[in-house]
Amino acid sequence: MANPLVKIFGSKYEKDIKSLLPFVREINNFESKIQPLSDEQLKNKTSEFRERLSNGATLDDILTEAFAVVRETARRTVDMRHFDVQLMGGVVLYQGKIAEMKTGEGKTLAATLPLYLIGLKGEGAHLITVNDYLAKRDATWMGPIYEFLGLKVAYLYHDIPFDERKNAYEADITYGTNNEFGFDYLRDNMADDYANMVQRSHSYAIVDEVDSVLIDEARTPLIISGPAGSASGQYYELKPKIMNLVSRQKSIVNRFLKEAEDLLAQNNTEDAGKRLLQAEKGDPKNKRLLKLKENPENIRLIQKTEFYYNQTKSISLIEEELYFVIEEKGHSVTLTERGRAALSPSNPEKLILQDYTDSIAELDSSGLSGEDLYRKKSELEEEYLQMSERLHIINQLLRAYSLYEKDVEYVVQDGRVVIVDEFTGRLMPGRRYGEGLHQAIEAKEDVTIERDTQTLATITIQNYFRLYDKLAGMTGTADTEAEEFAKIYNLEVVVIPTNEPVIRKDHPDRIYRTGKEKWKSIGDEIEESYKKGQPVLVGTISVDKSELLSKILKKRKIAHEVLNAKHHEKEAQIIAKAGEQKSVTIATNMAGRGTDIKLGEGVVELGGLHVIGTERHEARRIDNQLRGRSGRQGDQGSSRFYLSLEDDLMRLFGSEKISSIMLRMGMEENQKIDSPMVSKAIGSAQKKVETRNFEIRKHLLEYDNVMNDQRNFIYSKRREFIDDENIDQKTTAIMEEMIEAKLEEQELPRSGISYKEAGPIFFWLSDIIRKQWESDIDSEAELSVNALREALARFCSDAFAEKIQEIGEEIAPQVERFIALQAIDRRWKEHLYEMDGLREGIGYQRYAQKDPLIEYKFQAFNLFQELIKNINTDIIRSIFKVRIAPRVQTQRIWQINKTQHDEYDQFHTGRAPEPAVSHPERPQAQKIMERQQVVVGKKVGRNDLCPCGSGKKYKYCCGR
Ligand code: ADP
Ligand code: MG
Repeated sequence: MANPLVKIFGSKYEKDIKSLLPFVREINNFESKIQPLSDEQLKNKTSEFRERLSNGATLDDILTEAFAVVRETARRTVDMRHFDVQLMGGVVLYQGKIAEMKTGEGKTLAATLPLYLIGLKGEGAHLITVNDYLAKRDATWMGPIYEFLGLKVAYLYHDIPFDERKNAYEADITYGTNNEFGFDYLRDNMADDYANMVQRSHSYAIVDEVDSVLIDEARTPLIISGPAGSASGQYYELKPKIMNLVSRQKSIVNRFLKEAEDLLAQNNTEDAGKRLLQAEKGDPKNKRLLKLKENPENIRLIQKTEFYYNQTKSISLIEEELYFVIEEKGHSVTLTERGRAALSPSNPEKLILQDYTDSIAELDSSGLSGEDLYRKKSELEEEYLQMSERLHIINQLLRAYSLYEKDVEYVVQDGRVVIVDEFTGRLMPGRRYGEGLHQAIEAKEDVTIERDTQTLATITIQNYFRLYDKLAGMTGTADTEAEEFAKIYNLEVVVIPTNEPVIRKDHPDRIYRTGKEKWKSIGDEIEESYKKGQPVLVGTISVDKSELLSKILKKRKIAHEVLNAKHHEKEAQIIAKAGEQKSVTIATNMAGRGTDIKLGEGVVELGGLHVIGTERHEARRIDNQLRGRSGRQGDQGSSRFYLSLEDDLMRLFGSEKISSIMLRMGMEENQKIDSPMVSKAIGSAQKKVETRNFEIRKHLLEYDNVMNDQRNFIYSKRREFIDDENIDQKTTAIMEEMIEAKLEEQELPRSGISYKEAGPIFFWLSDIIRKQWESDIDSEAELSVNALREALARFCSDAFAEKIQEIGEEIAPQVERFIALQAIDRRWKEHLYEMDGLREGIGYQRYAQKDPLIEYKFQAFNLFQELIKNINTDIIRSIFKVRIAPRVQTQRIWQINKTQHDEYDQFHTGRAPEPAVSHPERPQAQKIMERQQVVVGKKVGRNDLCPCGSGKKYKYCCGR
C-alpha cells in the first residue's frame, strides 16, 4: 500500500536504525578481542578507560569498546549476553534520548551499558525506577556486572537511614524512585550544611518506564509541607445549604426526565430535547438519563439541541431553570442566578463578584478625603476577599457533590479521604486535591477537615528532571507521546526493533451497549480460556472494577488473583506466575509492572498468554502497556479489549460518532459488534483526551516555570552561603544590592540630588546598620546618584569592617552564614505561602476577564522582588544586631547554631517527639518529610513565644 504517511514515519524509524548499526558493528568487532581476556584483564579495562579519559579521550571515543566490555562481563557474571538490539538501546540511552523497547526486551540489561560508561566519570549516574522494589531488584540483579568492573552501585528506598542514603549517592551508579531523588533534592535545599546534604550531582539519569514517570506522575508536583493557619469552618457551615441545593436540583432533573419521556412518547422531540439537555447539564450521571442515553437517537437529540441553543445564543434559557450547571468534561460547576438566589435569598447579588476595580474607581472619583478613602478601600478589599473565598468554597462543595464519587474518585479510609489515581487505580494516601476541593470532600463525607497545609518546598517532576545535564528514558510505550517528550523534556523517541518479531494476535474490540452485557461476556471469555487452561491476564482501570470482576469470577468458581499495585514485591511474585496454565490474574495498570511474565509449560500450545482489557484507558499508551504484557520475546499470545457505551471514555468523548455508527449498523440489545470502524472512532476519542491531558500538564508547567526560576535563584543563593569561602564578599554584595534597590525605589534623578533628598536615605541605612550617621556632606551640595551610592557603600562597609572585628574574624563567617540561611529560609517559606495563595486566587481573575497566567506571572514577579529585598535587608540588619561577648565567643556560636536548630525545629514543636530509634539518621528537619505531602508540626504564630528561648514574642525576636 502506497500510503505516503507510512513512508514518512518509516523513514524516521529507518534513519534511526541506520545510524545505530555502525555502533553495533564495532561493538561486535571488539568481541573477538575481548572474549579471550582473563577475568583479571577484563577487570583492568576500567582503569585503562579511566586513564584514557584523563588523558583527553572522550566517552564517545571509548563507547564501543566499553560496551563490548560490559557485554562480556554480563555474560560472565549474570549469564546474559546483550542482544544487538540491546546495544542499540544502550547507544540511544547514552545519547540522552528515549529508547522505546517493548516489554520483555531486556531494558534492565540494556541500561547497564550507558550506566557503566558514564559511571566511569565518577560523577554519579542515576537510574529511576517506578517503585522501591524494582530499584532494589535491578541494582541487585545488575550489581555483579558493575562490581566485577570495579564500579560501586547502590539503591535508595523509602526509609533508608541518612548515612546509607548519603553513601548511596556516593556510589557511581544509584538506583531509586523519582520520589526519593526528588525529595532528596528538596530536602538538600533545606539543609544548612553540606554534611546534611545527600546528592552530589545531577549529571546523568535514565528514567525507566519513562512514560509513567514523566507523563502520568508528572501531573502532581512533589511537595513538602507543614500546617498553615486555621482550617476553614466554612465548609461545614455551607454544607447543609449545598446539600439542599443538590437535592433540589436532583428533583428538578428527575421531573425534567419524566417530562422528556412523556414528550418523546408524544413524538415532541423539540421539547424533549430541551428537557434532556437540561438534565445533561443538571445531573449528567443521573441513572434515568443514562438509561435514556442507551438509545443513540437520544444522544443525538441532546447534541442537536445544544447546538441549536448555542447557535441562537440562548443557552441561558436552558440553564436558568437549574440551580447550577455541571460541565463534566471540564470538571467544573457554575452557580446560576437561580442557585445564587436559593443560597442567599435575601441578597442574591452578594454572591456575584462585581468587578472590584470598578468599585475602586467609583470610590476614587467620589471625592472622599485621604484617610476615609483609604479606609473605604480596604473595607471593600476585605469584603471582596471574603466573598471570593465563600464563592470558592461553594463551588468546591458543588464539585464535591456532583463530580466526585465515593469509591470511584476517592475512598474513605480510617476517617480520611484518600484519592484514587484515575490512571492506575492506586490509592494515594497523603496526596490531597488542591484549592480546597479536598476539604470540600471531607465535609461531604463527614470526616475531620484536615488543616490547610503550607508548602515548604515544592518542585514538579518535570523541573526536577530538567536539572540533569543529560537525561534519557526507556519504556515499551513512548511513541504515542513523542510530541510531549520533545516539547517538554527535549527528549527524542527512538523506536528500537524487537529481538524477535512480535506474533501476538490483537483481536478487534468487542463493543456492547451496556456495561452489564459487557461484563457478562468478559466472564464468558475468561471461563472459556480457564477451562482450556490458557492463562488470562485481565486489566482494569480501577480497584473498583477489579473487585467487581473478582465477584463475577467467584460466582463462576474461577480461581484468580487480584493485584492493586499496593505490595509491589508480593504482586511481582504473583504476576511472574501469570503465564502458567489456568492462571487468571486481574490487575490494575501499575500492578506488577516491570516483572517478566514467562509462559508455563504447555502454554504455547494453548496460544500463550491471553490479555483482556475491560475498558479502554484514557490514553492509547496505557492500553498498549497492557497488551504488551503478552507476546514478549516472540512468545505466542493474544489480546482483546471489551467496551460498552456506558464506559466513561465513551460517554464523555466518543459518543456522537460511535453512536451514529452503531445506529447505522442497527445495533440491538445484547448484541456485540467487532468493528474496526468503531475501534478507530474510539482511538480518536482517546486522542482527544490525550491532548486535553497534555494541555493540563503544560498548564501546570507554565505555572511552575515561574516558580522554577525563583527556586533556582534562591537555592543557589543558599548554596553560596553554605559555602563558607569569601563569605564577607558575599555579604558585601548583599549590602550593595540592598542599597541599589533603595536607590531605585526612590526614583532619584541622576544628578543634582539635594541634601534634603539624600538625608533620609542615610538615616534609613543608619537604622539598619545601627550606627550614627555623621554627615560629612555639605548641606548645600548637590550629589549625583553615583556619588550618593558610593557614600552609602562606604558608610556601610566601614561599619561592616568594625562589626567583623567585634565579632571576631574567625567566627564571623559562621555567623554570617547562619544569619543568611535563616533569613533566606524564613522569607522563602513566607513567599511560598504567598505564592500558594496567589495560585489559588488567580483563578478568580477569570471572572474579571484577565488572562490568569499573565496576571500570575506579573504578580509573582512583584512578590519575588519584594522577597529579595526583604532577604537582603534581613541579612544585613541581623548581622549588625549580633552581639558577642568576647570571653565566651565560641560558646556563643554554639548557642547560635542551636538556635538555628530551633528555628528549623519550629515545625516540630507541638508534636510528640519522634521515637529516637525510628529516625536516628538525620540530625535535623530533613528527616521529617515523607512522600508527597507531610505534615511537620506546628507553625510558630507571630505572637507566640519565640522558640529560641529568649522569652520574647516570636515577632519581636527571631521572627522579625
Ligand atoms: P523489560 O524491562 O524490557 O520489560 P526485563 O529487563 O525485565 O525487560 O527483561 C525481561 C527478561 O528478558 C528477563 O527475564 C531477562 O532475564 C531476559 N533477558 C533480557 N536480556 C537478555 C539477554 N540478553 N539474554 C537473555 N535473557 C535476557
Ligand atoms: Mg523493565
